[in-house]
Amino acid sequence: MAKIPVIKAINLSKTFKLSKDNEVIALHAVNFEIYSGELICFFGPSGCGKSTLLSMLAGLQPPTSGEVVVRGKNLANYKKKEISAYRREKIGMVFQQFNLILSMTVLENIALPMAFGGMKRKRRMQRALHLLEVVGLGEKKKSVPADLSGGQQQKVAIARSLINNPWIIMADEPTGNLDSKSADDVMKLLISLSRKSKRTVILITHNPEYLQYADRIFRMKDGRVDKIEVNAKTTKVELVDSVAKLDKLKDVDDKSSDDSKDEEPIFSSEIGKIEDEKKEVLSEREDESNEIPAEEDKEAENVEPREALSEKEDESKEKEEIKQ
Ligand code: ADP
Ligand code: MG
Repeated sequence: MAKIPVIKAINLSKTFKLSKDNEVIALHAVNFEIYSGELICFFGPSGCGKSTLLSMLAGLQPPTSGEVVVRGKNLANYKKKEISAYRREKIGMVFQQFNLILSMTVLENIALPMAFGGMKRKRRMQRALHLLEVVGLGEKKKSVPADLSGGQQQKVAIARSLINNPWIIMADEPTGNLDSKSADDVMKLLISLSRKSKRTVILITHNPEYLQYADRIFRMKDGRVDKIEVNAKTTKVELVDSVAKLDKLKDVDDKSSDDSKDEEPIFSSEIGKIEDEKKEVLSEREDESNEIPAEEDKEAENVEPREALSEKEDESKEKEEIKQ
């Protein structure tokens, strides 16, 4: 059976028009395919187009020409709502700046992208706690970002990126603001998500030390993918054990759940949603304690995540094929 790439770029180009006769060609007709479960590094000097490329893969900006095809569908054919849903649910983004909301606890930050799905707050917070444990910071559940080191904040941002069980984790220089020890810890976590949990990870870096861990390296120069290298043998790294917990996440999209309908929020824009969620979180926080029941949701222990059963099966198969 032919492998379908999870994401594919076809002659993907981006030109920024600065003025009438001044433009920057950030990307020149780039082509590549990325398969489920791969750990891909985009590597190249500052200004070569890495972030522009990633933002188009994530549906954050449209290409000037060419296509981004996700599991066989051209993003250009998505309706506005579908693009938002794609960004929110299928992609987990991690940036150099952690972008955590300082007035919220780490759990509230992790749960935030889930606020739009209509799941009750208690369930969202349980899921957030589970993810905090996945990234190895379970003991920080009551902390606010300012209590944490940079490395820990980035791990919280990674947990947040996983909240909707995305197909692809995209990380743009995630270690750029970290000291070398924290950077290594964050990298171990991302590598573990790929190796232990078979997630597709697209990593932008300009640190050559990390290339040894990638399945493939896409070398970029002057807006082009210059060369794609396959790492026949990726360097082994001590994996983060707690990542295995990710496979036990409760299906968040469980339509049979009674929680879903009555809480469907209706807001005019995503920014509006975030602002409203912030208000809701802060006011709820006054009313109720943040205590998560010690007894974990038993269901959560046993149910595979959304898409994960079928996804993961063919992901691991695909990964085997790629390795050969
Ligand atoms: P990298 O992430 O590899 O450092 P970028 O994708 O940020 O590179 O930028 C690639 C090129 O596109 C650079 O010349 C940059 O100045 C330009 N560029 C990126 N975003 C914009 C923008 N919004 N407006 C104008 N030029 C931009
Ligand atoms: Mg960049």
